[in-house]
Amino acid sequence: MIVVTSEWQRGDVMTPELPVYLDHHATTPVDARVLASMLPFFEQQYGNASSLHHVYGQVARTAVNQAREQVAGLLNVQPREVVFTSGATEANNLAIKGSLAAAPAGSHLIVNAAEHKSVLDVAAKLARRGVEVTILPVDQFGCVDPKAVLNAIRPTTILVSAMMGNNEVGSINPVEEIAQVCAERSVTFHSDVTQAAPRIPVDLAAMSVDLASLSAHKMYGPKGVGALIRRRSSSSRPMEPLMDGGGHESRLRSGTLPVPLIVGFGKACEIVRAVRDDEARRLRSLSEQLEQGIRSQLSDVQLNGPTLSEFRLPGNVNLSFSGVDGDALMTRLKKIAVSSGAACSSSDPEPSHVLRAIGVPDRLVKASLRFGLGRPTTTADVEIAIEEVVRIVTELRSMP
Ligand code: PMP
Repeated sequence: MIVVTSEWQRGDVMTPELPVYLDHHATTPVDARVLASMLPFFEQQYGNASSLHHVYGQVARTAVNQAREQVAGLLNVQPREVVFTSGATEANNLAIKGSLAAAPAGSHLIVNAAEHKSVLDVAAKLARRGVEVTILPVDQFGCVDPKAVLNAIRPTTILVSAMMGNNEVGSINPVEEIAQVCAERSVTFHSDVTQAAPRIPVDLAAMSVDLASLSAHKMYGPKGVGALIRRRSSSSRPMEPLMDGGGHESRLRSGTLPVPLIVGFGKACEIVRAVRDDEARRLRSLSEQLEQGIRSQLSDVQLNGPTLSEFRLPGNVNLSFSGVDGDALMTRLKKIAVSSGAACSSSDPEPSHVLRAIGVPDRLVKASLRFGLGRPTTTADVEIAIEEVVRIVTELRSMP
């Protein structure tokens, strides 16, 4: 049995070696600078950010305001447009349920087949409650066609939701064009930028995106905090909160603010803003090295998602291996920690709906691996991954 202690480091001489972590779409380690920024708000500055009548609360409020600026700065929006939530699942729920709850009965919602479950499951629940829902298909690369969005919009359409970057195959949607189509029809446009924001520039002010969701733990921040961005331009569009109570976050999300988490989230955004472009270049090059290293040594390996790495989120490589059993592959890969399908989005080991949506046959869906390279990933890590995958797939293929 593996016992993980806080002292346990990968490669520590006192402990068994941990596998190389290549699952940065599922979650990321907390950056040491982020952790350092959070600690005082657990230990000394533990005030409630709403207790403005004393210094504890005032210090907490100042820290939250700073974090709000840091989050807003990453996405080029106004600090007052940031609504802190518990993560992107909540932000997606709030965006969609909140908008539809404020709309007349029989309203229409447009999503697409490659969205995260926190969009698709919400759409399915709303459909059961009488909302008209259109689920658009995606192309072989996982992208939504803006013309299909245009054709699907009805007079009753309230909201279109299309993610910026896909968490499984790394597709980058033409969000600017989709946003434009929606703006011209006065339909609210929501984009889940959870995976895109840490990896590519996301300038919401330059696009007509009304609502956007993101999460700190995908960008080297803590788990349990995220945000819904609600652009001021769209504040005339009514929205209901999911959570009622003290009226926090412009009445959209009641509940005492988790100040340490929010501070860490802000710091994580500040760091992403400073390092993102260099990091993206490095991760694209490492991803190419990984893909080519595996494909040059193994036949019948299919790359899922956009073919060229510049059209994919940096760090994403999703491969299917013909002729191997998916379960056997995952069980034998001991030196690397990767995902098969969408382990991060579901506790349910169903074959990936995204791979199915882009047309990957079922026999290959299970034999697929998602590699997510991240800030700590080195060339040596990639070499270990290539060696391990080539070895295990060759072994499995040579079994009678
Ligand atoms: N959207 C996307 C695109 C994601 O990848 C994830 C996490 N897998 C989520 C939403 C949910 O985020 P959270 O864990 O913060 O609820």
